[in-house]
Amino acid sequence: MKVSNRVLKLKPSTTLETAAKAKKLAEKGINVLNLALGEPDFNTPENIQDAAVKAIKSGEASFYTAVSGQKKLIEAVISRTKEDYGIEYEPNQVVVGTGAKFILFILFQALLNEGDEVIIPSPYWVSYGEQVEICDGIPVFVEGIESNHFKVTVEDLEKVTTNKTKAFILNSPCNPTGAIYTPEELEKIGKWAVKHNILIVADDIYGKLVYNGNVFTPIATLSEEIKKQTIVINGVSKSYAMTGWRIGYALGDEKLISQMVKIASQATSNPSAVSQYAAIEALTGNQEQVEKMRLVFEERLNLTYKRLNEIPGVKIDKPQGAFYLYPDISECLELCGYDNVTDWVNDLLEEAHVAVVTGEGFGTSKHIRLSYATDLETLDLAMDQIIAFVNKKQ
Ligand code: PLP
Repeated sequence: MKVSNRVLKLKPSTTLETAAKAKKLAEKGINVLNLALGEPDFNTPENIQDAAVKAIKSGEASFYTAVSGQKKLIEAVISRTKEDYGIEYEPNQVVVGTGAKFILFILFQALLNEGDEVIIPSPYWVSYGEQVEICDGIPVFVEGIESNHFKVTVEDLEKVTTNKTKAFILNSPCNPTGAIYTPEELEKIGKWAVKHNILIVADDIYGKLVYNGNVFTPIATLSEEIKKQTIVINGVSKSYAMTGWRIGYALGDEKLISQMVKIASQATSNPSAVSQYAAIEALTGNQEQVEKMRLVFEERLNLTYKRLNEIPGVKIDKPQGAFYLYPDISECLELCGYDNVTDWVNDLLEEAHVAVVTGEGFGTSKHIRLSYATDLETLDLAMDQIIAFVNKKQ
């Protein structure tokens, strides 16, 4: 069967690929310490599970809902966004879909014509560039200064702005670096976007996962003008430990949202009804579990950051949010006799049974991404095994 040129151009997700390799080793009975995962290791909180069971048993979850999500869920998204960040949206400015990943996909489908450019700060979450390309757009990657957590400035953005620039992706807190933009940095970026009429795609999915006194400011809160220029992407996967339920959402301009709904209506129809009931409870129910999980992540970050600094040739600034560390291991590669990071990552998995992700999927060639969404004991042991691996190679 001859498949499409579109799919031949597409790269598989590096993070999912690493996870699959780790799983294969685990199936052979090997105890793999998996720091490759992009999902919380907690079970979904019980009140959320109960709401889903109730909706199944009562029959409420048996039917299609409105494509953009049932009314109660749209209201829940609006009230959670208002309570958390003080910004207000109307129901026709919200769409709920099958995970934030699919929401981004229908956004690019609705937004981009062939050759339209989307500016993406590098390192970036693996799917942004690939999704833009599937939708006939051109990803334009721009790298900030590493000593400023790779954050991009308006000067960096001006250099790559053209009359084809349609959107800019802002992911703060960032996957993979954990960096958070300050209100001052965001204000400048917001003004730049307004000046050039560039849509800000604010992927705020890690907004509740910030640590050690750092604060997340959503760019849409800075002014009415900037809010109008922004589409907010969010979801329940990361903050409510609900990756498997597949519920994400967007808030923004009603005309754009209605076009995204049109695409979803021909692609998936509504997101799973049972997951919608779970998400209503997540967004409107008791929020204590969110804070409990955040505190656990904070402790894990502090331990792993400290231990990472014990590995010869590893450099890292402390991440502020999300649940990843993105150290520069170039010196370590040299010490170990490697000329590329991907071989080092593959050997680390094969020989030391620790799964991490190569920075190459995130756009840089001398970094690795480690996730601390796993228990302290695993993290501690993984650090021991990485140190032993590096010492053996030297
Ligand atoms: N955005 C970022 C930055 C992510 O890291 C992820 C998941 O890894 C997503 C969006 C998608 O999340 P989901 O599709 O689970 O809602």
